[in-house]
Amino acid sequence: MSEVKQHGRRRATEPTSHELVPFVGSRRDALAAERSSASSQAGLSQLLRAGLANGAGQKVGIALAATGLALAVTVPSATGMSLASTDLSSAATAEIVVSAGADIPISFTTPALGSVLNQDGQLRETLKVKASNVTAQAAKGTLSAPLKTLVESSPFGARINPLTGAAGEVHTGQDFAVQCSTAVFAAASGTVTFAGWHSYGGGNRVVIDHGNGLSTSYNHLSSIGVKVGQKLQRGDQVALSGTTGASTGCHLHFEVIVDDETVDPKGWL
Ligand SMILES: [Zn+2]
Repeated sequence: MSEVKQHGRRRATEPTSHELVPFVGSRRDALAAERSSASSQAGLSQLLRAGLANGAGQKVGIALAATGLALAVTVPSATGMSLASTDLSSAATAEIVVSAGADIPISFTTPALGSVLNQDGQLRETLKVKASNVTAQAAKGTLSAPLKTLVESSPFGARINPLTGAAGEVHTGQDFAVQCSTAVFAAASGTVTFAGWHSYGGGNRVVIDHGNGLSTSYNHLSSIGVKVGQKLQRGDQVALSGTTGASTGCHLHFEVIVDDETVDPKGWL
């Protein structure tokens, strides 16, 4: 038996009702051709349609393949037609190139809206795994600034307590210097899980749950503008900055909480 078989599929060498036009060119060739002869696309597809309609699909397919515009064309059977090869199981490197016709409307979002949507989308993708399993690379940039202007003061991590002078304290958030009564914004969309007085130094505090183990908190606020259970969008105003609780002056103590542990907010901003 000298017949060549690939994945149980006979590669016919003579025309049959399902002849597959041999692969010609590469994706790059096809794309280059597409760019250089976009204007001829309509004509070609007309030609293709006409060919398929009158049963001459195979010849048309070969003609298109020769131009480099069509990589693979399945000749229609007696009952139907298909323009794309589906012979993916074959060892041949046949590729399917799909391109929009000139008459297909393509819409674009504005850059500002697009970036907000992308950031939310990025966070959603990132939080498909539990927040504690998110890599530093994936986390970066998924949260938005909680203030219009970020002026970093005291960083996250070990520090000497500014009130007591005691060493060995872990600063649980990133401080941003800001005047009192400045708008504070939700770093991402989520649900308010705490809005009130924090007994351990946070003063007026808001906590927003962003899902799958990720929360943010906003502390030392002069006033709170949201309620527990309220759903927020990224960038919604949640409060005004202040210096309530254990605070030496107007600033925002911003926390990122991953599965109940505070982490460096700068890794997510
Ligand atoms: Zn702080």
